[in-house]
Amino acid sequence: MILVTGATGPLGKAVVEFLLQKTPASNIAALVRDPAKAEDLKAQGVDIRQGDYNDYASLVKAFTGIDKLYFVSGNDIPNRSVQQANVVRAAKQAGVKHALYTSFLRKNETSTSPIALVAQAHLETEAALMAGGIAYTILRHTLYTDMLPFFMGDKVLESGVIFQPAGEGKVSYALRTDMAEAAANILTSQGHENKIYEIAGNDAVSYQEVAKIMSDLSGKSINYISPTQESFREELTKAGVPEHYIGLFGGFAEGIKQGEFDHTDPTLEKLLGRKPVSVKEYLKTVYFPSAN
Ligand code: NAP
Repeated sequence: MILVTGATGPLGKAVVEFLLQKTPASNIAALVRDPAKAEDLKAQGVDIRQGDYNDYASLVKAFTGIDKLYFVSGNDIPNRSVQQANVVRAAKQAGVKHALYTSFLRKNETSTSPIALVAQAHLETEAALMAGGIAYTILRHTLYTDMLPFFMGDKVLESGVIFQPAGEGKVSYALRTDMAEAAANILTSQGHENKIYEIAGNDAVSYQEVAKIMSDLSGKSINYISPTQESFREELTKAGVPEHYIGLFGGFAEGIKQGEFDHTDPTLEKLLGRKPVSVKEYLKTVYFPSAN
């Protein structure tokens, strides 16, 4: 029996959907906080188990009888160290045999990392899993290609400007659904115990290159401007972006500038058995869906 957490979010849900194509629904369970958000999965025969990373007892109960766990990292950054420690401990107590964890790609593991706040729980969770008691597969996810429209803003085609303090830093983006399909392949095959996989695209691109792709696709000139962190903060504040988002965007852009996600890796292609979707293909489907 395989249990997927975060099954009401896009990543976990996509993993369940790929699993449904590979194994009977009777082998699949999903952990959800609110079962009302999982009616569609329930209708397909997935065993919906209620639980919360904050509620240890609910996790032990939900993980009982589970062989493989797909553990989606939490999104409550200030609280997820404690939450994720609960998940690992509960998995061990419930007798889960193998846990996959959605970690992050990085170079700098110290407190000097511009994304140290985001990094902390990932590093602790990796260590807790590797400490023993359960087989693990650590999936070190690069940035989702899906984050690009979010970082560029919804007015990028009108304004003709990509405004990010990321210098010439490159990212080996990969699509969230490609990561999900790769995970479903791992969960339904053998030989992945006690492995660390860097889940990244085949190419790394800078915002300058993204601007070129957007210009080619739109036939318009899209320019990349890399401001200082100070003027980035100033402009986003003027535009009314909430403070915590400004900090998060600035931190990721600085991480990109410092090359934290500049790491291509063939593992995703191997796991998929095909080439991952490229940045250009993805941006085309998002911004120019009717183009052929
Ligand atoms: P998402 O939309 O934020 O979904 C997070 C999922 O986790 C939701 O199903 C949510 O449940 C569940 N969850 C959150 N807190 C929980 C708790 N206390 N107990 C039980 N379930 C909880 O994220 P996503 O896009 O699917 O991505 C999954 C994870 O990847 C994120 O949580 C984040 O850690 C990470 N991430 C990575 C990138 C990247 O570029 N690599 C970008 C964004 C996020 P509800 O539906 O009940 O809220």
